[in-house]
Amino acid sequence: MPSHTLIQDGRARDAARFADPSDLSALESNETIDVLHIANDTDLEALAPALGRIETILIDFPAYTDGRGFSLAKQLRNRYGYEGLLIADGPLIPDQYAFALQCGFSAVHIDDATLERHTIEDWHAALDDFDLTYQRGYAIKAGPATSVFDSRLTAPSKKKDGERKAADPFFGHSAELTLRKAIKKYQGDIVLATSMGVDSAVLLHMVSRIDPSLPVIFLDTGKHFRETLGYRDDLVERFGLTDFRNITPDQAAVQAEDPDGTLNQSEPDNCCDLRKVRPLDGVIHGFGARITGRKRYQTPQRANMAILEEDGAQAKVNPLAYWSAKDVTQYMRQHDLPPHPLLALGYLSIGCQPCTTRVTAGEDPRAGRWRHSEKTECGIHMVDGKWVSSETKATFEAF
Ligand code: SF4
Repeated sequence: MPSHTLIQDGRARDAARFADPSDLSALESNETIDVLHIANDTDLEALAPALGRIETILIDFPAYTDGRGFSLAKQLRNRYGYEGLLIADGPLIPDQYAFALQCGFSAVHIDDATLERHTIEDWHAALDDFDLTYQRGYAIKAGPATSVFDSRLTAPSKKKDGERKAADPFFGHSAELTLRKAIKKYQGDIVLATSMGVDSAVLLHMVSRIDPSLPVIFLDTGKHFRETLGYRDDLVERFGLTDFRNITPDQAAVQAEDPDGTLNQSEPDNCCDLRKVRPLDGVIHGFGARITGRKRYQTPQRANMAILEEDGAQAKVNPLAYWSAKDVTQYMRQHDLPPHPLLALGYLSIGCQPCTTRVTAGEDPRAGRWRHSEKTECGIHMVDGKWVSSETKATFEAF
């Protein structure tokens, strides 16, 4: 049997899991199907009732000139809402890669003969063609995108793209390409600030693949959940981050200003100032650029946020600006990244333990932060190149 390679995100992945897929006869049982192989003329109406229990679908491409699999993928994503892994199985060529991703495929499964004709470098280079198309849909769509696939349906406009590109040099780039370019642009002068929250693994994973020696800082306020600290240790080790900096508040100041540890209840802004603003100022101030995980959909203040913001003393790079929550979930699933352990317990936005509660179904994910206070953000922003505590409740959050 010829061996196969999975091309995902322009890289070669282990394809052993897809070596022995089930065929349509597996639908007769009601069990979960790990990998299902279907022909490119399969009747999707018949398949629809079982889609929720199929983890991965391989669509057969008998030849690269046969494009019926692309239509099938689009229908599965757009009409039937299939959310599992969708893989094009056959001798596609790199020129078709961008289009395959647009149609909703997660990866391409090729045999050795195809890989001999087109190397991994060819596939990786082809991914760059995808960047503009991939992100453009988000920017054009009014309001936050609901999913990668919905947003890609929006018609592109070259004129408007040109205007946006002028205002935001990184507009149209994928998150990974944004990071690559930003790390190169601000070489040695850029830092990633992470909260080790529910989305944090995405940027940490991307950074680890580009430059694991990039400085990464985490504010260890002394008030975090034990689970967050365990998650921090796991991710740092897993991703091989070699310049991880665990920033703690000045202990003498903590003793003087919050001796019994209850400042968060009486004066939360002062507590954030003591445990976040001042420690952060001592470290991050030395960098010309900072990578954040902020996204447009999260708050009204972020709705028009650019990917690259260079209007302050410190540039901000927001690779996930156009991402939706669903995109984060999908990325984590595609790369098999571990979720924050508290996510399964209903914590959708996680900060310090005393200031974080679970959210219930239908609530805004950030409703669990400072629930019994008007406070909505950490209150950290930059004025004249210095990190300061905000006088208003609604300002940019540092993380
Ligand atoms: S989030 Fe709460 S506990 Fe953490 S520093 Fe701010 S007020 Fe203090």
